[in-house]
Amino acid sequence: TTRQPDAVTEAICGYCATGCSLKLHLKNGEAINLSADSEYPVNIGMACPKGWEALSPLEADDRATRPLIRNSSGELSPASWDEALKYFVRTFKDIGEQYGTDSLAWLSTGQIPSEEMAYLGALCKFGIGMIHGDGNTRQCMATSVAAYKESFGFDAPPYTYADFEESDVIILTGSNLCITHPIMWQRVMRNKRNPKIIVIDPRRTETAMAATQHLPLQPKSDLVLFYGIARLLIEHNWVDQAYVDANVKGYQALKQFLLEGPYDLPTVARCSGLEETDLFDLARTIGSGRRVSLWWTMGVNQSYEGTRVAQSIINIALLTGNIGKPGTGANSITGQCNAMGSRLFSNSTNLLGGHLFTNETHRIKVANTLGIPVDVIPDQNSWAYDQIIDGIEAGKIKALWVVATNGAHSWIHQNRFRKIRKKLDCLVVQDMYHTTETAEIADLVLPAAGWGEKEGTFINSERRIGRIRKVRRAPGEALADFHIFQLIAHYWGCGDLFKEWKTPEDVFKILTRLSKGQPCDISGIENYAMIEKAGGIQWPLRDIKDYARERRLFEDGKFHHADQRARLVFEAPRTMPEAPDNEYPFMLLTGRGTSSQWHTQTRTGKSAVLKKLYPQGVYLELNPSDAEKLKVKADDTVTIESRRGRITAKAYLTGSVSPGQVFLPMHYAMVNQLTHNSVDSYSRQPSYKACAVNVFSA
Ligand code: SF4
Repeated sequence: TTRQPDAVTEAICGYCATGCSLKLHLKNGEAINLSADSEYPVNIGMACPKGWEALSPLEADDRATRPLIRNSSGELSPASWDEALKYFVRTFKDIGEQYGTDSLAWLSTGQIPSEEMAYLGALCKFGIGMIHGDGNTRQCMATSVAAYKESFGFDAPPYTYADFEESDVIILTGSNLCITHPIMWQRVMRNKRNPKIIVIDPRRTETAMAATQHLPLQPKSDLVLFYGIARLLIEHNWVDQAYVDANVKGYQALKQFLLEGPYDLPTVARCSGLEETDLFDLARTIGSGRRVSLWWTMGVNQSYEGTRVAQSIINIALLTGNIGKPGTGANSITGQCNAMGSRLFSNSTNLLGGHLFTNETHRIKVANTLGIPVDVIPDQNSWAYDQIIDGIEAGKIKALWVVATNGAHSWIHQNRFRKIRKKLDCLVVQDMYHTTETAEIADLVLPAAGWGEKEGTFINSERRIGRIRKVRRAPGEALADFHIFQLIAHYWGCGDLFKEWKTPEDVFKILTRLSKGQPCDISGIENYAMIEKAGGIQWPLRDIKDYARERRLFEDGKFHHADQRARLVFEAPRTMPEAPDNEYPFMLLTGRGTSSQWHTQTRTGKSAVLKKLYPQGVYLELNPSDAEKLKVKADDTVTIESRRGRITAKAYLTGSVSPGQVFLPMHYAMVNQLTHNSVDSYSRQPSYKACAVNVFSA
């Protein structure tokens, strides 16, 4: 039949950081269908609804198919690529000349391949001379990066997914794995060791319901909780002292901090709202000598003190020697499909290959490897996302280039984001769709190809590098981001810097050379074919002779600090930036509502199948006892108000949220009208998970 495929190829899914491989069924070189890849070590024949529907969003009616420039009547009107590129270059050069190139900035994404990220960052910093650029990974993974760097000496998530299957005790903190990373949850379900699964989360999430035990702690009491557990480990001699003495620094200081601070059992029970017996059992379970793995995601990362919370989890793993062995680890689960690529190769906050802009030796190494003058590499760090937003508000950033992200929906305290847009002289949005909330307020829209329409590599949450492929032609005049960056380099007049950057595979080979000698060294990978043959390759890989299908870090107890010891990092908890009070008595929690929708729904909202799986409009999870007090019934429309905005939603009455707490899914644009503009001071990651609101009958 006409739907009969004539070939099959594989590509890594373009949504979450699980990094499942999909078999793409081709006819005449174009994907007409797909199925899950049964041979790939990550997903072993499984895929979640988003993966199964990965081709549908490519066919949406609102794909950006031509460049658009805002005309004198204020409308976005079609333009040729030549006009669009000249507009870009003229506007950015004019603004740069008038205000300095530090008035130009970009915001990128964890959704494009590493080769495109590297090109974008190199073009912006080495070619155009920008200083400030960041990614939407600031919204999901920055906290883990900061925590790992300080604790381990490098941003190095230590685990491999086999650890889900090899643990005796799996502790998930602030992670609704069932729906946020459904295939990782399936890996948990494959565990034959009858593991104890403990979920630490204020909400009774789908994962909490499926766990052995749910510990519904008070929102943002996690730091106190883990300090309390660490103190119990010390008091009851459940510390692996031999491991600590050999591999860890800071034990005596941590011990003193914990024993002298308010981290005794009764105090921690009171702060966290948990039973003393449950806390004691948790400590005893961790200290029992079995294989314990500790996992976390956005409930930890998206917090005003997330870095210290992540480190308090890392401390527990280090104190008990639960690291570098099967079924163990202090394991941050990453969000986006290539957030890990962004962490190493985006050239925004880190110099390419996990190097530092502020380190002269690193700058010289990168310049020599690339064959570019060292003085085109800035010697200062970029502002983080929130600082770029502050810079726009202060009139310091005048032009912004947004690539494959939708900040007008997703950034915290959204009304401010939209208000300060007026302060920009130029907003360029490069995206698959011309209808995202951010594209709609742009001066220039550059139409980009999406996943499935271009080549490259992603790095998943367990550090596995996998291939993505072009299996469809992009619609109209849309181009791969890689090609757009090449064109801009040419129009800007800095193409000479990128003479060797002809194809994504050329850039991949450059990245392998740049990584040499780094903890993320992948110089043993010669080309794409090697990745395909191996079924993905986890970093590091210095020599193909060392290849193993599953690779975890720190098996030898050596970390990346100069003395090879990990650090125990701690600090007294901070006051919550905005706690509930009489005026705003509820604590608002936000997060993913379903496994079938992705972030701001720009892609998954285009699939009829995925919409059927999540037909709800905006809804608020409200505890029935609170509903009774508010005289709200199921499905009533309620108003949710914070100091920053007011929205309406349908009331969904559920015991999943405790009294005094409410939950809104993040997929709807209006939710971030409410959130509070606070960030973790080390990672500068926004605190999406806690702000004060009031709820009343609309
Ligand atoms: Fe796998 Fe994530 Fe894609 Fe689902 S969205 S198929 S879990 S990579």
